[in-house]
Amino acid sequence: MKNITIVGGGLVGSLLAVFLGRRGHTVNVFERRPDPRTTDVYAGRSINLVVSHRGWTALRAAGLEESVRSITVPVYARMTHDRDGRTTRLPYSIDDKAIYSVSRGELNRRLLSEAERSPNVTLHFDRRCVDVDLGTATCLFRESDGAAHSVKADLVIGSDGAFSAVRAKMMYGRFNYSQEYIEHDYKEIAIPAHADGTPKLDPQCLHIWPRRWFMMMGLANQDGGFTGTLFMPNTATPQAPGFDTVREEAQVRKFFAEQFPDAVQLVPDIAEQYLRNPQSSLVIVRCDPWVHADKVALIGDAAHAIVPFYGEGMNAGFEDCRVFAELLDELGDEDMGEVLRRYNAARKPNGDAIADLSLRNFVEMRDLVADPRFILRKKIEGRLQARHPDQWLPLYSQVKFSDIAYKDALREGQRHDRIMEQVLALPDIEARWESEEVERTALALLDRS
Ligand SMILES: Cc1cc2nc3c(=O)[nH]c(=O)nc-3n(C[C@H](O)[C@H](O)[C@H](O)COP(=O)(O)OP(=O)(O)OC[C@H]3O[C@@H](n4cnc5c(N)ncnc54)[C@H](O)[C@@H]3O)c2cc1C
Repeated sequence: MKNITIVGGGLVGSLLAVFLGRRGHTVNVFERRPDPRTTDVYAGRSINLVVSHRGWTALRAAGLEESVRSITVPVYARMTHDRDGRTTRLPYSIDDKAIYSVSRGELNRRLLSEAERSPNVTLHFDRRCVDVDLGTATCLFRESDGAAHSVKADLVIGSDGAFSAVRAKMMYGRFNYSQEYIEHDYKEIAIPAHADGTPKLDPQCLHIWPRRWFMMMGLANQDGGFTGTLFMPNTATPQAPGFDTVREEAQVRKFFAEQFPDAVQLVPDIAEQYLRNPQSSLVIVRCDPWVHADKVALIGDAAHAIVPFYGEGMNAGFEDCRVFAELLDELGDEDMGEVLRRYNAARKPNGDAIADLSLRNFVEMRDLVADPRFILRKKIEGRLQARHPDQWLPLYSQVKFSDIAYKDALREGQRHDRIMEQVLALPDIEARWESEEVERTALALLDRS
């Protein structure tokens, strides 16, 4: 059994501690912030996330499915809101599958408590990792009063997020790294419940206000409210406003009144929230390798920070944890170098693929969900899936409702794009999309591709 240091007690680090503690390893988790179960580290912000299929697969493998399911809200469809307040409901699957909305703070608290139930796991809060000796798996942690402690282990796992201190140390060696800020930033807007606690929107839908160059979305919380997130370019362009041109109160009021009039009805203090809430950026981090010899590994956002448009960052991190635990089961812990090599080989290509898929889904959410061609494509794909489930699984279902490797899903999605481009080009497709002929054409193209 190994002595393992986990740096970062966020969503991924705390789930990893559950997996490793249950396997008998001695696990110490060091988190720079105070304990979120006793301090409001989320400062009253109701950020929420969706858990989807592969997140559940990992939680089930860790024995936590029931515990986590009880704090989620199922979401079965997207609901788009146009500028005139008209809504369109688009189910996520043809067979009523759901993704699950959960409060980030609540989930983190739950996972930390589950990790702590294992006698092998010790949580240390207010410990910021400031240095790592990669060769000896020794970390230096600093407390807020300045005290510093050095901790040596057999293995260090960096689950310390997009700006990982562990990864920073790996960059001194033979290590590839890229960091890309996308043009869009985001701001959160709380959409409150009615005074009697009932929700103002259908809680079983993810609400999207797509406006081509920017968008707002809303996800249900368990208290009847929603967390809204506005994604918009930082800098305005001729086509679209940006956070830099929507700054003064009058500009903010005009912006919401013109772009999201129905949201203004739901959130009377929308302008005040916009002016008060911080603007956050979105970064994509790719690096290679994710491991150093038999001593250090990166996991979760520390290895692959992605944009949030597929809602898969945490799910991908949970899948990393499951795969890592399965490799330990398969290979044992004697040759940790081999475990880490196999982990890197299994997960790195999938980290790259979900980064690409997430950018691609941004385009889909921002403008395509409001596009009649896109809606028609979804209908054709839904029909193909219903009639030939063994041959056609739409990309969204592969990513959100299956354990198919992200890299395979990406390749299959690109194949589907090529086929559907030809199907949508068929004459009179709007009228004939349900015909046998369209179906036969799609299947023939699938056979040939
Ligand atoms: C707006 C938005 C919406 C999202 N929606 C979804 C979604 O719907 N579904 C989904 O799956 N994902 C979503 N994500 C992505 C998801 O939030 C991340 O992928 C996930 O939080 C990654 O977990 P993590 O534990 O790897 O990193 P983090 O959650 O960042 O946790 C890292 C932890 O390490 C600690 N830490 C950092 N540095 C140090 C240090 N030096 N020493 C000690 N501790 C340290 C931090 O305090 C933190 O607790 C979203 C992200 C954003 C921004």
